[in-house]
Amino acid sequence: MKLKFLGTGAAEGIPNFGCTCVRCQLARKEKGPNSRRRASLLVEAADQRLLLDVPPEISQQLNHAEVYDLTAILLSHEHHDHIGGLIEFEFWQQVLPVFAGYDVLTKLLLTPRFKKRALLSGFQAQTRLHFGDLTVMPFKVIHHVSCYGFVIESDGARLVHFTDSDFKLSNLHRSLIRDADVVIFHTPTYEEHRHHLSVENVIALAKDWSLKQTVITHINHHNLSHEELEEKLAPEGIIVAYDGLVLEI
Ligand SMILES: [Zn+2]
Ligand SMILES: [Zn+2]
Ligand SMILES: [Zn+2]
Repeated sequence: MKLKFLGTGAAEGIPNFGCTCVRCQLARKEKGPNSRRRASLLVEAADQRLLLDVPPEISQQLNHAEVYDLTAILLSHEHHDHIGGLIEFEFWQQVLPVFAGYDVLTKLLLTPRFKKRALLSGFQAQTRLHFGDLTVMPFKVIHHVSCYGFVIESDGARLVHFTDSDFKLSNLHRSLIRDADVVIFHTPTYEEHRHHLSVENVIALAKDWSLKQTVITHINHHNLSHEELEEKLAPEGIIVAYDGLVLEI
C-alpha cells in the first residue's frame, strides 16, 4: 500500500491568508515543508486509488501530484477543510463514487452538475467497504461533529487514519491501532487543543501503546516549524508528514 500526503495543513493551511505571523511569512518566502496545503491523503494499492477528504484546493493538489483517476473519494466529516473541495469535482472527467457516513451525507452542499458526475453512497461505522483487494472500515472518532476515521487494509498491511480526533480515545480505538502498521493522527497544535489531539498527546500515545509507526499531519501555523517538529519527534520514531511525502507499507 502506498500513501501519498497531498496536503498536510490544518483547517487554515499554511500560510493562512491574511495572517502575518512568523510561520506564515516564512511559508510565503521559503515554500518547502513549512508551506502546507490542507490535509488530504491518497491511498494506492494494486489498481485501486482512494482519496481521503477533499480540501478546497483539491484540484491544485491532484494536478500537482499528477493524479488523473480515482477509484473513490471517502469523506470523514463536514468541516470545510475536509469537504470544501467536493464540488470542484463538477469538472472531473469520469463518474466518481463518493462515500460518507449517512449523517455526513446530509451535510454536503451539492450542485446539479456535481450530482451528475458523482455516485453518492452512505456508510455506517464498522461496516466494511471493498475496493478490489483493498478493504476500508470506517469507525467513529470523537470530534465536535460526527466524524469517521478509516482502517484500510491491503495484502496484510493495515493503516489506521484518525482524521480530526479528540484526545479521548475509546477501547475500540485502542484495539484498532494495536496491530496497525501505520497510524496517522491529525495534530493542529503542539500543545493541548480543544477538539484535536496535540503533538504532545501523540508522543505519549505512541509510547504507551508501542505503536509500530506513527505519522502526524493536519498541522497549523501555531505549531512548531517542520524542522523543530522533526527534531523533537525523530527520537520518538514519529514521522512528521509534509506535502508530497510518500510512504510504503
Ligand atoms: Zn480539520
Ligand atoms: Zn499565521
Ligand atoms: Zn474537523
